[in-house]
Amino acid sequence: MMNDCGDAELIAAVRAIDATPYLNDDCVAPGRIQLGDAALAIDPISSSGVQKAIQTALSGAVVANTLLRRPGSTDAALNFYRAQLGECSERHRRWAAEHYRDVAERCAHPFWQQRAGQKAAPDPAPLRAIDARGFATTPMELSSELEFASTPCLQGDFVSLASALHHPRLASPIAFLGRRELAPLLRMLQPGRTPLQIAQSWSNHMSLESGLAIAGWLVNHGILVEQRGRSGMPS
Ligand SMILES: Cc1cc2nc3c(=O)[nH]c(=O)nc-3n(C[C@H](O)[C@H](O)[C@H](O)COP(=O)(O)OP(=O)(O)OC[C@H]3O[C@@H](n4cnc5c(N)ncnc54)[C@H](O)[C@@H]3O)c2cc1C
Repeated sequence: MMNDCGDAELIAAVRAIDATPYLNDDCVAPGRIQLGDAALAIDPISSSGVQKAIQTALSGAVVANTLLRRPGSTDAALNFYRAQLGECSERHRRWAAEHYRDVAERCAHPFWQQRAGQKAAPDPAPLRAIDARGFATTPMELSSELEFASTPCLQGDFVSLASALHHPRLASPIAFLGRRELAPLLRMLQPGRTPLQIAQSWSNHMSLESGLAIAGWLVNHGILVEQRGRSGMPS
């Protein structure tokens, strides 16, 4: 590609600016908050630093609102922001390392080798899909790996604590889906019901269509699993 550039000449000194990813562990306190690159910088190859800066500005506004107007939720707001940035930084570190590793496998240059890092643990085995018939006939139960934990979440204009789902198949804890709080819906479930029956059991809270969408999401993410002793489906 550079064969035709033999007579190219340098017209100005080469300048370099450090673009190393970092996470500011001290990005928020009761009286201040840092947003965008001031809080965290992700690897430039992600090409999503601007999107991340906007996301931290949006969630940072809710955190600041909570710190100013709900002093009783100060710890929840601080922990929410730190956890959000920490998870983001770690997720991008893994993704970037995968991209560097792709090149490092073909190119021995230290630039790629040093950034490739160790191969991450393999993803959990894919789940067996349930078709429409299975929705009406497969008895389900909650995964034995599911845990509920009080976790700071965005709720409207404030950060507050909600019971969130923690599970190895979830990239981060989740408390709401389609604006529905999941923990109360799951706590009322009786094992052995089909996804269709589960959606019907939520009819006091939402339409059947919404219930089926939530039940399908829970099945696809391994939160609802086939009842043990029926097919050996992984939980
Ligand atoms: C090489 C490289 C390539 C990248 N490529 C992409 C890409 O393709 N896509 C993408 O989305 N992101 C990319 N990024 C990341 C993206 O540029 C940043 O994540 C994003 O600009 C961060 O926005 P920000 O508002 O937090 O900070 P900035 O964009 O840095 O804005 C901060 C502003 O504050 C000003 N400022 C600083 N101190 C003061 C002060 N004391 N008083 C007043 N003003 C001040 C600065 O001059 C600056 O204008 C790349 C980054 C690098 C380094």
